[in-house]
Amino acid sequence: MNKAYKYRIYPNKEQEEIIKKTFGCVRFVYNQMLANRKEIYEKYEDDKQALMEQKYLTPANYKNEYPWLKDVDSLALANAQLNLNTAYRNFFRDKSVGFPKFKSKHRDKKSYTTNNQKGSIRLVDNSHIRLPKLKDIRIKLHRQLPQDAIIKSATISQTASGKYYISILMEFDIETDPVTPTKDTILGIDYSSKELYVDSEGNKGNYPKYYRKAEARLKKEQRKLSKRKKGSKNREKQRQKVAKLHEKVANQRKEFLHKLSRQITNAYEAIVIEDLNMRGMAQGLKLAKSTNDNGFGMLKTFLEYKLKEQGKQLVVIDKWYPSSKLCRFCGTVNSQLTLADRVWTCSCGAVIDRDINAAINIKNEGCMILGVA
Ligand SMILES: [Zn+2]
Repeated sequence: MNKAYKYRIYPNKEQEEIIKKTFGCVRFVYNQMLANRKEIYEKYEDDKQALMEQKYLTPANYKNEYPWLKDVDSLALANAQLNLNTAYRNFFRDKSVGFPKFKSKHRDKKSYTTNNQKGSIRLVDNSHIRLPKLKDIRIKLHRQLPQDAIIKSATISQTASGKYYISILMEFDIETDPVTPTKDTILGIDYSSKELYVDSEGNKGNYPKYYRKAEARLKKEQRKLSKRKKGSKNREKQRQKVAKLHEKVANQRKEFLHKLSRQITNAYEAIVIEDLNMRGMAQGLKLAKSTNDNGFGMLKTFLEYKLKEQGKQLVVIDKWYPSSKLCRFCGTVNSQLTLADRVWTCSCGAVIDRDINAAINIKNEGCMILGVA
């Protein structure tokens, strides 16, 4: 099992130059390889067999023409190729995700990944980490790296406000025994655009108020930014301010979701959740803001790996399952139900609270899948 640990790093001037150069080379080689694939794809689009037989260029193919690529960590370039492979495969599996896009210096996240080869990535002491090409870089270890795991790879990134981080991927070889859940230790979770979620016990996943406050302030500062004159010093200053605030809000949200998912994971033996296509939802309904805001997708990801660490399961049920429209008492499906109906009365006489009913139905469906009576 793998788990990532993220820390702030403080490169000196020289190291910063190398990191920036690596970001640039990774982006360059990714775009070159993508252009190559695009050309081949356009040529053989209609001939699947021929398309499958084509060979694509690799980072090594570009090193003669662009010798400066040899100066940077070659594993970073190799990982750019792996990332492109993934994006390309995703496109073939589901064309609606679109052909992979070229990376832009300004739009895309600045990052690169390198692998540990026989200790090429390692902590040298409590405040320095050794990295290929960079030697020892200052790190703030706000928590210790686990002792019972080995470093697989590291991703170095820079945020929009200019801070550097390292995400260290650790590999554990412990296998946890699977937990067999009982009915009262299974929790159903229903997505809610307003509350984040409602669970089968009637709890809601509201964000704390002070996070909301920071979000409101971010909106205000963003409006200010849009009014600043393009290219002006004031605009750049405001951009920095917005970027910092944005990072703060994103970190708070993440921290909240980490704590929440930890609590849920510790309290239950299995979690049942609907397979919601968040992107589809954001586009289809006018919930885009709150959908993106409340990070339901992130909560799902956190729950999934935290449960797995404890040998527990996240059960994902079909998105077509009528969790809201189904009366949990008699099994009637109310096809007339609209999004605006918060409470409804079933033909069997039951008065039904939409959210809790949905969460309980989700739980029951999960129990059936798990074979728990
Ligand atoms: Zn009913």
